[in-house]
Amino acid sequence: MTKRDYYDVLGVGRNATDEELKKCYRKIAMQCHPDRNPGDKEAEERFKEAAEAYEVLSDRQKREIYDQYGHAGLSNTGFQGFSGFDDVFSSFGDIFEDVFGFGRSRGRGRSRQAARAGADLRYDLKISFLDAAFGVTTTIELEKLHTCRECQGTGAAAGTAPSTCPTCHGRGQVVQSSGFFTISSTCPHCHGQGKFIAKPCSACRGTGKERQHKTVELKIPAGVETGSRLRLRGEGEAGELGGPPGDLYVFLEVEEHDFFVRSDDDILCRVPISFVQAALGSTIVVPTLDDTEKIKIPRGTPSGRTFRLKGKGIPHLQGYGRGDQIIEVFVQVPTELTRKQEDLLREFEKSGK
Ligand SMILES: [Zn+2]
Ligand SMILES: [Zn+2]
Repeated sequence: MTKRDYYDVLGVGRNATDEELKKCYRKIAMQCHPDRNPGDKEAEERFKEAAEAYEVLSDRQKREIYDQYGHAGLSNTGFQGFSGFDDVFSSFGDIFEDVFGFGRSRGRGRSRQAARAGADLRYDLKISFLDAAFGVTTTIELEKLHTCRECQGTGAAAGTAPSTCPTCHGRGQVVQSSGFFTISSTCPHCHGQGKFIAKPCSACRGTGKERQHKTVELKIPAGVETGSRLRLRGEGEAGELGGPPGDLYVFLEVEEHDFFVRSDDDILCRVPISFVQAALGSTIVVPTLDDTEKIKIPRGTPSGRTFRLKGKGIPHLQGYGRGDQIIEVFVQVPTELTRKQEDLLREFEKSGK
């Protein structure tokens, strides 16, 4: 594919000033930014093309070479343009953040002093069957990174402040020129931070963060189940350089119950009845999540018959109402009989048709 003329790409004249270049590039970059045009190949190409054109024309040396020798002249210097977004963002992270006020939202373009969101935290919590059914308010203890209170996150000792890195003058990058080449690399003095801390804060050893215990109150709604996840906005780790804190995710595991088994929002249980109750009918008392409930067992109830208590199951997590309680009865066959009972049963057997 033949490359378009860089001036045409940006839509500027051959004697455009730096200001004009920046203005035109900004316009195209805003229009074609990948975050605004997800999956749009054409926008992606235009975005990369414009970034490359701007990279060359905004650099005095490269622009001179291009004006004199065109694309071929540049490739002789080793300039290859950009192969992908990562290239664009690693070269232009600063421009995006400093000039345009936006970068790549997921922050691939590492820029100096970029505010970074804090990390999300995960906490696994086991709760009882009944707490899951009816909800509970509990507290959890966390250990997480906070902005250092001693230095307010600057990393500098009390009464001092970080100064601009003298090696890179705050750019975070050092540029070396040799002939046609300009090589930029992360500043070895400040490791790309652009700042230099002469006296680090003793509390956080200059990191600007400290570990702290925190107690977080957790309101678990009724109806959660194993695998339910609660998100607590802003309860994750502290952000960097003014970035927002991360979130806390609480993953729930619900303990099993001795008597009830959950099936979605219904609860199942098995209740024994005697064969006399099964044959003659009876009223039995069954435990429920709330209390107890009476159930009428009709005459001639076989083992395995189920009864349903409407609205006695688990409250629906979303919306109102509750599931049901389903009771399966099973007929117990007596294993130990007294002499008298045996005689009665034999008589019963003989009396049958
Ligand atoms: Zn530096
Ligand atoms: Zn500190």
